[in-house]
Amino acid sequence: MPDELLPESLLEFSEASLGDWCRDAGIPAFRARQIRHWVFEKRVYDFDKMHSLPKPLRERLSSSFEILAANVAAHQRASDNTEKLLLEWRDNESVECVLMRETSRRTACISTQVGCAMGCVFCASGLLGLKRNLSRGEILEQVVRIEACLKRDEKLTNLVVMGIGEPLANLDALLSALADVHSPNGLGLGARRITISTVGLPLKMRELAESGRQYNLAVSLHAPNDELRNRLVPVNDRVGIDEIVQAADYYFASTGRRVTYEYVLLGGVNDASVHARQLSILLRERNAHVNLIPMNDVSALPYSEPAQPRTQQFLSILEQNGVPATIRKRKGADIDAACGQLRLERSKPSPEVIPLTETALPKP
Ligand code: SAH
Repeated sequence: MPDELLPESLLEFSEASLGDWCRDAGIPAFRARQIRHWVFEKRVYDFDKMHSLPKPLRERLSSSFEILAANVAAHQRASDNTEKLLLEWRDNESVECVLMRETSRRTACISTQVGCAMGCVFCASGLLGLKRNLSRGEILEQVVRIEACLKRDEKLTNLVVMGIGEPLANLDALLSALADVHSPNGLGLGARRITISTVGLPLKMRELAESGRQYNLAVSLHAPNDELRNRLVPVNDRVGIDEIVQAADYYFASTGRRVTYEYVLLGGVNDASVHARQLSILLRERNAHVNLIPMNDVSALPYSEPAQPRTQQFLSILEQNGVPATIRKRKGADIDAACGQLRLERSKPSPEVIPLTETALPKP
């Protein structure tokens, strides 16, 4: 079927643009609010079940839109009740999203790109390069799908943009999707419960600071000096740690939100005491928090997490130097919840794959 005859994806429409669509179709604007209420509040994804809409309108909507566009190519549940979905889009590209459960917390982790161009050497997401950006509807659909996994008495409490891709390399689509996650007429999740993780693109960090939103920012530092960071996070070569921490300081000054620095511990690579001391010097005067992440094994990659005492020692050095730090708990270990792994397993490299280059990377 040619593309123009396919139904449109409802989630591509913002609140305003769905209102416009209704107006152009001669439908009162309050119907747009009703439709969004059914989807976001009542978790109903079939127009036919939207009883407050007249039947002819339900039929018309059914022929014009699909509410959920992806095919769920895999749905896994780990022994700790972490769930992971592999969503496949019309063009057969797929991304992962995850639901993590911890006491009363329900956290969704979502992707922003198909693949990634950053090339971090320990990460599964970038192994096949970048295929394309996700649209605002595709980003939003992941959150809607995760909500659909929740039981009636569960509520989404947090969202982390820490899945496949570099969120700040697809910032417009992300901000558009998050507007609906955050809006009281959307999913209604507070901005302070949303965390965006970035490899560290200073210009985009500043743009995000100026968006007027109170999202949390997490910066994937992974090394305390440029020489080491250039090896682990190749894009650093054109950016540099100094620019990144300055942009993070600007983020804090503009939003009042304390920035988190993520640091993946790779045994024998970036986990020595000297690295912890250098990191302390870099961060101790800043209002920052360090999240230490013992590396999740990726079978195709020659890195692994350090032995436990080493991780503890790294943490102690930061703490002794007055840098607040925590070790991230692993969730969903038995389903390979480290993002990118499921997609990687199911994908075969294809000739159109964009290699690990500067494509789609905004100039720092
Ligand atoms: N592009 C964004 C989002 C990436 S995923 C960023 O760089 O922040 C979120 C975090 O998981 C990042 O800190 C990323 O470096 C980290 N990560 C990637 N692969 C990992 C692995 N195998 N083990 C542990 N953490 C990993």
